[in-house]
Amino acid sequence: QNIVRMRTIRGEDLQQHEREKNMAEQPIPVRPDEIDPASLHAKYLQERDRRLRKDGWAQYVDISAQPEYLDDPYVEPGFTRAPIDEEIEVAIIGGGFSALMTASRLKKDGIDDIRIIERAADFGGTWYWNRYPGAACDVESYIYMPLLEEVGTVPSQKYAGAAEIWEHTKAIGRHFGLYENALFQTEVRSLDWDEASGRWLIRTSRGDLIRARFVCLGVGQVTRPKLPGIPGIESFRGESFHTSRWDYGYTGGGPNSVMEKLKDKRVAIIGTGATAVQAIPPLGESAGHLFVFQRTPSAVDIRANRPTDYSWAKALQPGWQRRRMENFDSIIANIPQDEDLVGDSWTDVWRNLLVLSEGDGENGVMERSPEETRQLADYTKMEQIRRRVDMVVKDKATAEALKPWYNLFCKRPCFHDGYLQTYNRPNVTLVDTKGRGVERITEKGLVFEGVEYEVDLIVYATGFEQNAPVYRAGGFDVKGVGGASLEAKFEDGVQSLHGITSKGFPNLFMLGTLAQAGGTVNFPLGASHQCEHVSYILKRCADDNVVRVETTAEAETAWAAQMEAKHIDRDQFLADCTPGYYNWEGDTKKSFLNHLYGGGAFEYFRILQQWRNGRFEKDFHLEHAPARVAAE
Ligand code: NDP
Repeated sequence: QNIVRMRTIRGEDLQQHEREKNMAEQPIPVRPDEIDPASLHAKYLQERDRRLRKDGWAQYVDISAQPEYLDDPYVEPGFTRAPIDEEIEVAIIGGGFSALMTASRLKKDGIDDIRIIERAADFGGTWYWNRYPGAACDVESYIYMPLLEEVGTVPSQKYAGAAEIWEHTKAIGRHFGLYENALFQTEVRSLDWDEASGRWLIRTSRGDLIRARFVCLGVGQVTRPKLPGIPGIESFRGESFHTSRWDYGYTGGGPNSVMEKLKDKRVAIIGTGATAVQAIPPLGESAGHLFVFQRTPSAVDIRANRPTDYSWAKALQPGWQRRRMENFDSIIANIPQDEDLVGDSWTDVWRNLLVLSEGDGENGVMERSPEETRQLADYTKMEQIRRRVDMVVKDKATAEALKPWYNLFCKRPCFHDGYLQTYNRPNVTLVDTKGRGVERITEKGLVFEGVEYEVDLIVYATGFEQNAPVYRAGGFDVKGVGGASLEAKFEDGVQSLHGITSKGFPNLFMLGTLAQAGGTVNFPLGASHQCEHVSYILKRCADDNVVRVETTAEAETAWAAQMEAKHIDRDQFLADCTPGYYNWEGDTKKSFLNHLYGGGAFEYFRILQQWRNGRFEKDFHLEHAPARVAAE
């Protein structure tokens, strides 16, 4: 009955939806004097306590035990090719943003003897796998999509869809001639340093043996999907998949079109993180009935997407993208800027902060400490987000359940203009599990509080193993000098120089890592600095005929000391947060060595730049090619 009703009123729905959307895009004023910090703090702790679990990360099952969830649904099965046995200069493992930024730079520098090894069937990394309906980037595309100026393009919208971002990664591949260097549908199985030949031996799922002088690990942050360890998960007889392996064969439609095969289906989605926030609106439109199983609500703010104004784009001056990227992350790092170039909901909380701080100044009295001002700005932002829920969602109980009660950066903030509206649809039901999660999965569906929800399809929007070290994200151990394992070396915390190189692992570079690096909200800015740094080292090696480069023990120790000196103790902040991957699922006592560099992203970038100005010979043991040594 619901289905029929939904289809017949769709036209009216659309107009109503537009009205609600316009209303919801207006910022909601909240005055600081409306905020009661003490009661909000108490409420946040109470909500966190509902969610705390003893099992932390162990609540998730290792997906390799259910490899069918990792199969690539986007390729025809049966691809084969002959194994390759080759010797090359640089191997890059991974084909996402970090790999593309590094490889393109190496090509520009004249280093052509490169092999890119990627498990997917094309470039794109995250954007190859994540094709779920509604997938997009909610960080502005003008700063998020790398190498726009080099490729000579401007995205079509402020927040580009996944297909456009994926296309852009392919365009980078074409522009820099990287396809000729790539091995797709090829998984690295082991990576061993061979001292005798001075090469890394890379063995793959296709039987290849690639002997590379240098290896760059660009294995990504959101690589390994995770499944919840819900009892009975394996017993479900219907269809199920993870959002990063969307089966359009089953659902019909595509990322931007109605999934017509779902029109008579009952669908459950587990999770309400950034992925689910994007996937739920199109699922709501397509499914006969959609049950959203929520454990913790996301903070969903205004996104306000709009098409690119090409006259603006035409007037952009060279270097604009890096300037815009830096402007955005500077504002987020609270570094004063003349203007807010991106000006979206990401930077809004810092605008609030500015207003609050200036207000104090005008009174001539600092009524609050900077920390209290920051907290007040956060409470204000979160209150706006909660009020927006009330404004948009009609059913009061549903609205109450959708309100997030934690500090903004306890979890990944989300931005969407149609998510909350979806709960006004008659065919969408929010099953709020009050912080506990789905109790059980049966042959027929999902159980919460004794009620069994029978469904045809379960979509797992349960995220990825984030913060995973490179060997875990890559899915293979890395064995360095004397067969020593990187995993063993990092057991008590990452030991490295700048989060990029590690003693005992010569000629190996970690790209796009977070541990010990400068964290940026806009991932490509941080990654681009690391890629630039690694490309510099590789160019120096090529120019100076260096065949073996290894971080010294002194350099590693000095960097660890700097990490410790700059470490910002956020343990209390993290401990007060509702659990999630930002606080290691509530296990906040991680060594300072696993944290971001405490001096901030821009200080980290400066450190890398200054290092390039003279530390290459000092912090590395260098070995030159015999011919060069003889010539000298
Ligand atoms: P997340 O880890 O953020 O979310 C997983 C969701 O699954 C959470 O809502 C979690 O609840 C829920 N969950 C886990 N176990 C259970 C259970 N047993 N019962 C019920 N619910 C459960 O994963 P996402 O895929 O959403 O995001 C992954 C990454 O991708 C993030 O870094 C995100 O920033 C990024 N991303 C970025 C986008 C962009 O626009 N730039 C878009 C989409 C994703 P709980 O919160 O309680 O743990």
